[in-house]
Amino acid sequence: MTAKRIILWYRNDLRLHDHEPLHEAIKAKAQIIPLYCFDPRQFGQTSFGFPKTGNFRAQLLLESVADLRQSLQKLGSNLVIRKGRPEAIIPQISKQLGADAVYFHEEVTSEELAVEKALSKALKPLGAALKSFWGHTLYHPDNLPFGISNIPEVFTNFRKRVEQSSEVDPTFPTPKRLPPLPEIDTGTLPQLADFGLQPPAPDKRAALQFKGGETAGLERVEQYFWKQDRLRVYKDTRNGMLGADYSSKFSPWLALGCLSPRYIFEQVQKYEEQRVKNDSTYWLVFELLWRDYFRFICAKHGNRIFHLSGLQGVPIPWQEDWQRFALWKEGKTGFPLLDANMRELAATGFMSNRGRQNVASFLTKNLGINWQMGAEWFESLLIDYDVCSNWGNWNYTAGVGNDARGFRFFNILKQSKDYDPQGEYVKHWLPELAKVPAGKVNEPWKLLPVEQQRFQVRIGVDYPNPVVDLFKSAEANEKVYNAALSRK
Ligand SMILES: Cc1cc2nc3c(=O)[nH]c(=O)nc-3n(C[C@H](O)[C@H](O)[C@H](O)COP(=O)(O)OP(=O)(O)OC[C@H]3O[C@@H](n4cnc5c(N)ncnc54)[C@H](O)[C@@H]3O)c2cc1C
Repeated sequence: MTAKRIILWYRNDLRLHDHEPLHEAIKAKAQIIPLYCFDPRQFGQTSFGFPKTGNFRAQLLLESVADLRQSLQKLGSNLVIRKGRPEAIIPQISKQLGADAVYFHEEVTSEELAVEKALSKALKPLGAALKSFWGHTLYHPDNLPFGISNIPEVFTNFRKRVEQSSEVDPTFPTPKRLPPLPEIDTGTLPQLADFGLQPPAPDKRAALQFKGGETAGLERVEQYFWKQDRLRVYKDTRNGMLGADYSSKFSPWLALGCLSPRYIFEQVQKYEEQRVKNDSTYWLVFELLWRDYFRFICAKHGNRIFHLSGLQGVPIPWQEDWQRFALWKEGKTGFPLLDANMRELAATGFMSNRGRQNVASFLTKNLGINWQMGAEWFESLLIDYDVCSNWGNWNYTAGVGNDARGFRFFNILKQSKDYDPQGEYVKHWLPELAKVPAGKVNEPWKLLPVEQQRFQVRIGVDYPNPVVDLFKSAEANEKVYNAALSRK
């Protein structure tokens, strides 16, 4: 009797460790055909016309797929690579090889679910079974104290109940050998140019030179936890913006599934046993819970996360002011903290959590611009773009999320003083302000002509004047927000 043949459809789970579909296929003693499809729809445009996958993330994806292929080859297997729609390619390969089943990690948002549905339909006449697994979160839904439809609408309620009564499952073992592929053309790895993208220019100012793939992801955990010993101070440093180690930087690898959150959890436990257990070790897991929460909320609410009125259905008359949006995305608002962050994003595809919160607050609460434009800009650029975390956080910051509590906006000036008191971050990304002393760098519009001369910057020429008055603009948008709330 010939062995069972299982196609292992890789998506945002580009790893060998803690991979349940792979583990189950091995248990079934099947011939395994690992497959990755570069779906052209992922390289189209967002609704506002930005590249859906910009060159930073595309590069990281290519590196991750290449790394997965290498790791599979080392174990005696290989990765089949195709360019095209999974719902067309998988049935074709399934037919060609007489596959018995297709195993994959399920997703929760509309575009991904549509692909799963189309695939299921296409596979039906072929008799190949489609089996999905849940594998993106720290907590498995089966271990939660509530069903997905009853996930609390407030994060703290979710967290407390999960912490009280749920367990994180152990990781699945990494295989040591894999069966060889049956006769099949394995395909070649595409290049950025195949998607009409240019290679991103490396920027020495980047917080970290990110490299895609499980190998680099595991190495980052090793580096951050064990070699640099940074986990012990994570809670104190996590709001930083400058340098490699103020936060873990695990997000790009988590987003593509090169790292499993359960693996990180186990490493935290090991660290707590061998080094120290403190608020910081707890806090990293706490942040991973946020990540879980957004995924469960997306699973619960479906498409509502993408709606203009958000999960809460607040009918805010957002503006589509493209001129001001351009100033925001190019880092030319005249507020150094925002501009530095937006320029970092444009130059590297990464931005700290502190930065993201500030720039998102400003776009929505000061400029009153449609938050979806911001979310799509992030989708295009972020190397760690994760549909649930991105749209969930934008809902939250725009004040339309399930957990949003009224009109709350970030006072950018206070944030600058609290998180960049010496102006080091701002100067790192805004060389035109390099000579302005720390005490003045966050309010450059206040510089007298004589000071501008002394610090070699002309406000309105080398660096812009503020696009709005911070407090008056927030006040005006608060009125709009409250009026919308009363119409809800
Ligand atoms: C407007 C906005 C958009 C965002 N878009 C994304 C996105 O597309 N992808 C993404 O992974 N994160 C997103 N975040 C969350 C957060 O900013 C990043 O996860 C974090 O900055 C990544 O850096 P790190 O890995 O060093 O984080 P660390 O501080 O080291 O945190 C560890 C991990 O916890 C998770 N995490 C931390 N904060 C959050 C959070 N607020 N929400 C969800 N998960 C969190 C991430 O997986 C992160 O890697 C967004 C936040 C905002 C405010």
